[in-house]
Amino acid sequence: MPGKVNVTGAGIFGLSLAVSLRQRGYDVVVFDKNDYGLDEYRDFEVQAASVDQNKIFRASYGKKIHYQRLAMEAREEWEKLGHDLFVPSGMLRVQPTEELGALELETIAGMEKDGLREKIFVKGDKQDEERAQQRGWHGKLLSFPIPDDSSKEFAQVLDMTAGFTRSSAACHYFYKQARDMGVEFVFGEEKGAFDSLIKAQVGDNSCKIIGLRTKDGIEHLADKTVIAAGSFSHSLVPELAYHIESSAGSVARFKIDPSQTELWDKYSPEKFPVITWKKAKRDAAGKDVGSVYVFPRTEEGIIKIGYRGVKYTHFRSAPAEVAFSQDGQWSTPAGPELKPPPVALDAIREFVSIFLPEFKDVPYYSTKFCWYTDSLDNEFVIDYVPLYADHSLFVCTGGSGHGAKFLPVLGEHAADIFENKDNAKTPLRSFWRWRADAPRKNGLEEGPEGPRNIAKGSVSL
Ligand SMILES: Cc1cc2nc3c(=O)[nH]c(=O)nc-3n(C[C@H](O)[C@H](O)[C@H](O)COP(=O)(O)OP(=O)(O)OC[C@H]3O[C@@H](n4cnc5c(N)ncnc54)[C@H](O)[C@@H]3O)c2cc1C
Repeated sequence: MPGKVNVTGAGIFGLSLAVSLRQRGYDVVVFDKNDYGLDEYRDFEVQAASVDQNKIFRASYGKKIHYQRLAMEAREEWEKLGHDLFVPSGMLRVQPTEELGALELETIAGMEKDGLREKIFVKGDKQDEERAQQRGWHGKLLSFPIPDDSSKEFAQVLDMTAGFTRSSAACHYFYKQARDMGVEFVFGEEKGAFDSLIKAQVGDNSCKIIGLRTKDGIEHLADKTVIAAGSFSHSLVPELAYHIESSAGSVARFKIDPSQTELWDKYSPEKFPVITWKKAKRDAAGKDVGSVYVFPRTEEGIIKIGYRGVKYTHFRSAPAEVAFSQDGQWSTPAGPELKPPPVALDAIREFVSIFLPEFKDVPYYSTKFCWYTDSLDNEFVIDYVPLYADHSLFVCTGGSGHGAKFLPVLGEHAADIFENKDNAKTPLRSFWRWRADAPRKNGLEEGPEGPRNIAKGSVSL
């Protein structure tokens, strides 16, 4: 039976779920410490992964067919939404060597299975190149010689199911849609900021969540409480500490002016695809190590490059009451004053020298960290917290660096779980469940002594 739901977090996860719950008849109130009503999701310095010019849209997921299918479901919805929120610029996946890597081969096999092969073009494959020519996409099959051996080129695959979303514009669109549907938004550093959960004793041994308190001291009661606070979620619900960890991706931007007509034209989404490059092959442990990626320029002339080679952790003392910590610490987002270290910027520079040669010696326009919410296994965490009675506390988080593309459909799958729990029809139910039994992997096992800790000497700041 619909009732009142408080949602903390007006990023992609919170917005998408809020819209779907409202469609199902719930009274929904969304809280956020950022005032998106005022800045329209355009303050790119705020700490919210969703607030960004662009995010990659891809259906290429190797063997993870459930995300391939969810992405194609999302693609249909993006196309219906229009408003240029999704741009099918294509994506060029440049391989570590002159051969296709293991992940790429798995992706091609997965796409073949779902009838998507005709939108994939392998450079050097005669039939694919002809097909790209016929479809008018051949210009996006670019050539990049391997620096140490310029007689060879990196192998590459053009994927025209892919492109990018205009993330901030899409959030603003969904925010307005939600507001028009009757979702209430409470924004601001005091009145919109979550302070604590309100608990009520149920029987002798358990309690339920009956609402939340905001920083201004006001209590907001509700039948159900949802936490969708991205990389801050475990700070709000310490029970999540085992399940997620914040880590930082490094981002650098160049800016070009329309008067630089050649560059303006060359890097436009019409001519230039998203490019991702995996510098190294799958490692001995079977893990695909992070990539560097670049987007076509925005309307403002911004060319954004992201480095995922190392996702930096930021360990601090965890509160004493936290059920899980590593040496008494946990990784949570640092303030915006902490910037990517030289080692990350150098890795971006190497990428630039190969893929954007005109910018080889151009100073960055800006750099920043963007905070991931990494889960144990890169699956999202969308479920009730089992420690509270009456299914009173729901979490919708764990984006693990790939959640933005699902904005138009994530909420429907999450709302199905919200209403139907184990009887939910979504095929994502088993992947997104509360996984206290899953081992801590995906780097979350490393802890403060791990090599990614930004505070450690091995990471030169
Ligand atoms: C560097 C980087 C690159 C990425 N690239 C891609 C990509 O190319 N493609 C893709 O699909 N995905 C990508 N992602 C992932 C995607 O951005 C995330 O999965 C998604 O944006 C997460 O949304 P969210 O709503 O969970 O979190 P957020 O966007 O972080 O939103 C959480 C919200 O909670 C609010 N909040 C936090 N604490 C409080 C509090 N105490 N009180 C009130 N409000 C609070 C915040 O202000 C924020 O608005 C990337 C992520 C990063 C970090």
